[in-house]
Amino acid sequence: MRLSSSSTLLAVSFLLQQQQQPLSFDDLRNAGTYPAVKQVAIIGAGAAGSSAAYHLRRFAAESSIAVNITIYDSNPYIGGRSTTVHPFDSPSQPPLELGASIFVQVNQILVNATREFNLSTESMMVDLVNNDDVPDLGVYDGTRIVLVQASDSYWDLAKLVWKYGLAPWRTIRLMRETVGKFLQMYSAPIFPFADLTAAVAQTGLADILAVTGDVFLGIGGISPEFSHDVIQASTRVNYAQNLDVIHGLETMVCMATDGAMSIDGGNWRIFAGMVEASGAVRALGTKVHAVRRIDQGRLEVEAGPTARDDVPGDNWTATFDHVVLAAPMQFTGIEWPSDVHRPDVIPYVQLHVTLFTSPHDLEPTAFGLAENAKVPRALLTTTPAEGMPGPDFLSISLLRDVVNPITGGMEHAYKIFTLQPVNATFIRRILGIRGAGEDIPKVEVGWIHRKVWHSYPLELPRVTFESTRLARDLWYTAGMESFISTMETSSLMGMNVARLVVDEWIGGAGAADRFHCLLKARLRSCS
Ligand SMILES: Cc1cc2nc3c(=O)[nH]c(=O)nc-3n(C[C@H](O)[C@H](O)[C@H](O)COP(=O)(O)OP(=O)(O)OC[C@H]3O[C@@H](n4cnc5c(N)ncnc54)[C@H](O)[C@@H]3O)c2cc1C
Repeated sequence: MRLSSSSTLLAVSFLLQQQQQPLSFDDLRNAGTYPAVKQVAIIGAGAAGSSAAYHLRRFAAESSIAVNITIYDSNPYIGGRSTTVHPFDSPSQPPLELGASIFVQVNQILVNATREFNLSTESMMVDLVNNDDVPDLGVYDGTRIVLVQASDSYWDLAKLVWKYGLAPWRTIRLMRETVGKFLQMYSAPIFPFADLTAAVAQTGLADILAVTGDVFLGIGGISPEFSHDVIQASTRVNYAQNLDVIHGLETMVCMATDGAMSIDGGNWRIFAGMVEASGAVRALGTKVHAVRRIDQGRLEVEAGPTARDDVPGDNWTATFDHVVLAAPMQFTGIEWPSDVHRPDVIPYVQLHVTLFTSPHDLEPTAFGLAENAKVPRALLTTTPAEGMPGPDFLSISLLRDVVNPITGGMEHAYKIFTLQPVNATFIRRILGIRGAGEDIPKVEVGWIHRKVWHSYPLELPRVTFESTRLARDLWYTAGMESFISTMETSSLMGMNVARLVVDEWIGGAGAADRFHCLLKARLRSCS
């Protein structure tokens, strides 16, 4: 805060005498003085951190507050769990999503950002060469395919109604009611929410969160057959969890597929657009090691290059008024001051994502189909019939056809989700390739890329959630993930934290008020 001259002070005290209200920042600016520029660090450049940066800049600008934002990420890229890789590691090949792959029409932050940054969306069904008679979707229980959908709509309702009666309609109704309740979180009186637990209670979603998916669906009159064959296939591909584990709300999120889309070139482009628009200083490939409390209660962030993690001499420090932790604390490895609340460590799914290309189609007999049958392009899974072996994967999807740059031949790009590493025996089995050993010839599998994620929490039923605030000036987004874990909900939490921070600057405990107090020589009563 600068009091640049006595004339400024006079001008400000004149304004004070004229007004009963605290000074606004415009008043201060007109009087020729400015409050100190706010310094904010955001740790994590995924959906939550990027959205926090974008909205912080926007909300601060709306209140004429100057803010410097620094966004740190240990990865060398923006997007966190939204990231892509190029087949054959060749930038000339269109990228494939390695993490979060779809969002939906009701995801208003992502949809608005898509428009603002002029990004084009991809249809979820990319045409394949010779794909005429390949069914779009099948559900496999480890022994046989229990459901096949031939058309390009997941909700091929006519067939579903024939097989499952009213369950599909009831599910859609339940899903829409649930989405309606969730959407209250974007506006007053719920938004912004300092306390996620209270916000959830206000939405009326607590009952849905308190029970597992199978209990919730049972109460809603959804038949066990439809839940098992269709809804559980969706909870397994989206969250790697069965209906007797995942809570009712996340179960409904899995069924909210209206207007599914992804960004051409990668969903991470939304978050890159947000960071760009925020004007934040980008400290990418930079791992935060410690956050310490220093003089006057400010926070010091110590960080260094991720690549030279073990060389403390390369670290540097910077001082901030606020820090936003936009990542699950349990995976950050950051040392925190003693006054910071530590969120409970919660179980996360360890998801193995394997992308590979091959000239081979999937082998029908590996999935209980006849030799001449076509394997659906998206093969989801569900639990087995009693006493039978379950599937050893969560999903196998045929993504698109790509040209192998070495052979010039056309290959299929596949994505597999599993809870265990995918080995050569598994790949040979699903492609019907002969041989043994860990090496598969390049002519059989042209390219392979493996990634293990802490993908999302085990979404166990719960009705209380971690606070958005871990200390007076330290904010937290990842409590949201036990409620719903998606790009949109992380973005919502980033926006929420940004609103809370700026409201505090504007409001009672904010800089404007402190400045007001200083001028009235009653700083002590305003501390
Ligand atoms: C395989 C997979 C599929 C998914 N599918 C979907 C989907 O289809 N649709 C959907 O909406 N969601 C999906 N999700 C979930 C979605 O990706 C996440 O909910 C969301 O992206 C989380 O964003 P975030 O910003 O909260 O966290 P993250 O994206 O994890 O960002 C946190 C960032 O913090 C950084 N960080 C951590 N510690 C430090 C440190 N010490 N110093 C500096 N930086 C640090 C990390 O590097 C990371 O980039 C999927 C997730 C996975 C893994």
